[in-house]
Amino acid sequence: MIIIASHNGVIGIDAAMQSLKNGGSALDAVEIGIRAVEADPDDHTVGYNGYPNILGELELDASIMDGRTLNSGAVALMRGFPYAISVARQVMDRKLPHVLLAAEGAERFAREIGAEARDRMLTDEIREIWRKRLAASASREDLSAIPDEAPLRDWVQLATDPERVAGTVNFIAIDSAGDIASGVSTSGWAWKYPGRIGDSPIIGAGNYADNRYGACACTGMGEMAIRAGSARSVLLYLKMGMSLEQAARQAMLDLRDLGGDYIGGMNLIALDKDGKHIGMGSRAGAYIFQQADMSAFQEVERELVTIPGRWAGAPRD
Ligand code: ASP
Repeated sequence: MIIIASHNGVIGIDAAMQSLKNGGSALDAVEIGIRAVEADPDDHTVGYNGYPNILGELELDASIMDGRTLNSGAVALMRGFPYAISVARQVMDRKLPHVLLAAEGAERFAREIGAEARDRMLTDEIREIWRKRLAASASREDLSAIPDEAPLRDWVQLATDPERVAGTVNFIAIDSAGDIASGVSTSGWAWKYPGRIGDSPIIGAGNYADNRYGACACTGMGEMAIRAGSARSVLLYLKMGMSLEQAARQAMLDLRDLGGDYIGGMNLIALDKDGKHIGMGSRAGAYIFQQADMSAFQEVERELVTIPGRWAGAPRD
């Protein structure tokens, strides 16, 4: 039994491991670990109290995948429900003939299954940070809303603000039966264009699990992981016989082949079916892991694979 997670998973890994030790499934562990991060008001990149989009609305993305069957569930652009990972899991478990629900459809489904809702998804503090960003970008003192007809593509150039942040939580677990599950949840980029969907809810881009080979989950500039199909690439490279190290490195190198102006930072964590794990990133950072026989998690530095031509405005995580 093992769990690996992005560093912000610190807050949830104990409870997730406890669940595994009590006989819970890998899917349960992933959901429990991620929910703890989604509930944390001090994590502004995942769940409740994340940084909102350019219009000040919090739109959440999440996905979960079951390595036994390759079943998966995902939600995107969901407002008003903090536990995106649980709604994603229900998309899978309630046996909808769908994988990904977005926006109003995701919210409708969340209501239908009685998912926990929250009226105010942002604290005053985060709302104020958003207001100040808008005011700074408009060079005006007191701007609390964008005019209805304003061209948002101009406003969203806030996206080039070097202070802007992003982040995502990844959890991958192997349970006592040897089954693998992976989950990802995020509020996406701060001040993103409304309707922008990142890699986190896209199976194959930001998340993939397959009992036969392992699992992979990503953080960083989701647009790149979508374009390169990063998480699935790692699994495919494993399937082709590469070692975990080679597979993860090759998926990172694939990101270097992407052309265009918008190249930023990308990171991934992965494990193989034997529980061997690795983290790689285009900038320094750490991930965490815990095995059943460990009393606490340990931190491991990600291996660095630089991606040249980084866009100065890319989100920092
Ligand atoms: N991957 C996330 C997204 O693009 C953000 C992040 O991890 O920084 O939505």
